[in-house]
Parts: sequence; structure tokens; C-alpha cells
Amino acid sequence: MSKVGETTLTLNLLALEHNYNYLRAKIEPETKFLGVVKAFAYGSDTVTIARKLEQLGADYLAVAYVSEGVLLREAGIQLPILVLHPLASNFEDLIAHHLEPSLYSRNILNRFLEAANAKNQKDYPIHIKFNTGLNRLGFSEADVNFIAEETKRSECIRIVSCFSHLAASEDINERDFSLNQIASFKNLSGALMDTLGYAPMRHMLNTSGILNYPEAQFEMVRSGIGLYGYGNQAKVDEQLRPVASLKTIISQIHEIGANQSVGYNRAFKSSHNIKSATLPIGHADGIGRQYGKGKGFVTINGKKAPILGNVCMDMIMVDVTEIDCKEGDEAIVFGPNKSAENFAATANTISYEILTAISQRVKREVINT
Ligand SMILES: *Cc1c(COP(=O)(O)O)cnc(C)c1O
Repeated sequence: MSKVGETTLTLNLLALEHNYNYLRAKIEPETKFLGVVKAFAYGSDTVTIARKLEQLGADYLAVAYVSEGVLLREAGIQLPILVLHPLASNFEDLIAHHLEPSLYSRNILNRFLEAANAKNQKDYPIHIKFNTGLNRLGFSEADVNFIAEETKRSECIRIVSCFSHLAASEDINERDFSLNQIASFKNLSGALMDTLGYAPMRHMLNTSGILNYPEAQFEMVRSGIGLYGYGNQAKVDEQLRPVASLKTIISQIHEIGANQSVGYNRAFKSSHNIKSATLPIGHADGIGRQYGKGKGFVTINGKKAPILGNVCMDMIMVDVTEIDCKEGDEAIVFGPNKSAENFAATANTISYEILTAISQRVKREVINT
């Protein structure tokens, strides 16, 4: 890895390629692969990741909101893009950019029909989301006839896929619940296909679903976190390569005497002489206050340096009493050898949250190693 002169999120596209190939090898060759690039591609860089996935041969991309899809179209991305949570107020923009909506309720389906009609669309590709137990978004069994009738009645839309989402695909203790969701999705998609008279693609597996329930891959799978190098279990993490590494440097070192304090609210008070290092990264960069007061740590010259006191907006101070280091030395927050999952765990959260928290202020750098 290259040395950095400022706080930098380094994105390794070779790691992305490795993870893509790993996940692809877990499914049948004919199963389609959708890469999830919502939330700035899990906090990395939407366009960089989408371009690479397009080049690797992914079949579909997904984002959460219309604005994220617009960004991809403006960058020239050609792949079909599923918008997981479109809002009716953005339908005009969605259609103008050939983005494909997930429709999850009678209301949102009706609103989309109005928008597609107003724009004289024919066979506009839509995706039907079924709720099978997550209870977040999705149609239920009672809606199947409504969906089929509305679709048949209107020339302007065509259902290209129906899908659902597992609530606990990573949790082996919830295996029965997941199997129930899969069975329920089979019934719902079967009923829809019967009423519709044709067969849209079906998909239900996220990363942990691919690893734990490959028998439910249907015609497509949707992977996010696995592409970025995390698999929600240590054994899988060993096989994957983190795409993003977050590094910064030491701006200043202080000798702190006994009975002095460090940072806002004097949240750290020293009982003896210590040495602190100030780093140019704070909660505005994505290191939330929950990592403060000794919970989170960075690695400097191979050694752990815990965060002292409160995380500031633009800085943290870390304990380097036992570390041979100087101003300008590198500090690793997470990376290939220091997992973001482990860093997240220090504040009781998960890789998804720390990755997506890294703010746009942090410089992005792309490597291929
Ligand atoms: C975010 C998301 C995914 C990706 O999940 P991972 O666990 O990151 O693989 C898949 N499907 C839906 C509906 C999502 O919202």
C-alpha cells in the first residue's frame, strides 16, 4: 500500500475482482449477479466500483435511491440499475435515466403507472418486491392478483423480476425462519407467474444468503458487503479481501503529564505520564463518538493506539505511550490486515455501518494490487 499524506480511503479494485470471482463461483454459471452499489458503494466510490463491476461482467446494479442511480447514468454506466427504494416524487427522474423501480405497495405501483403513462412508456421494466418476513417493504399474498391485473391492463409496464429479502441470512440460529421465507417467496412468485402468464426473474439472496442458502439462488443474486470484502462470518472473511483501507497520519505528538486531560469535556484524564498523537480524522469523517473513550483504536507501526477521550469533529487523539512513532507516521484505522468488522465491533456495530459512514470529505485513492 502506498504512503499517504492525508486521511485517505484506498480502494483496491483487484480485491473487488477477487471477491466478485469468489462469490460468482458460489452460484451456478447461468445465475445472474447483481452488484449492490447503494450508499456510495458501501462508503467507497459509486462510479469507480460500478465501472469495475460492469467490466467484470455483473448483470445488474442496485442502488437505494433515484439520485444514486442518476449519478451512475451521468457517469455513463450502461448496466440495468434496480432502485430498491424509489419515492414517487422522483419517478420522472427515474424514467428519464432508465432506472428500474422496485415497487412494493399498491400505492407505489399506482403512482408509477401514472408516471409511466404520463411519459407514454411501453413495457417499462419494473421489479416487484414481496415481503416474506422482514416487514420492511413489500407486497403480501393478498396483493398478487392486484399486481397481475394492473400489469396486464397496462401496456406501459413489464415485470422483469420479483424478489424478496431475507431478514437473518447470516444467522444460523434463524435457519428455520429463513427457510420459511424462501418457501413463502416460492409460493408468492409462483402465484404471480401463474396469474401473469409469464415468468419474471426471481431473486432473494444477499451475500450471506449466497453463502448459506445457495439452493435459493433462483435466476439472480444480489451481493453488496461480500463484494467489499466482508462476509458476516470469520471463515468467509478469510477468503475475501477488503476493498477499502482507511489510513491517516500523525499531525502532532504531546507529552501529557499526570492529572492532565485530553480533548473536549476533559473526557480522558491521565493518572501518569503518557504520550498522545493527534490524527486528522474525526466524526465528520465517519469515526463516530461511540468509538471514543478507549473503545476504538488505530494501528501505528504495528501497535494498537486506543482513542483517548472524545472524538472531535476533525480529529482524534490516540494513546501512543508504548509506541515508537513520530509526526508524519501512518495510522491505520482499517484495511487489509485490520478488518473494518473488528474496528466496528469495538463500538458494538457492524462492518456495514463503519464502511458507509466514511464521509465524502475523505480523499479516495484507487489502486490495483
Ligand atoms: C443492501 C441490500 C442487499 C445487499 O446485502 P448485503 O448483505 O450487503 O449483500 C441486497 N438486497 C437488498 C434488498 C438490499 O437492501
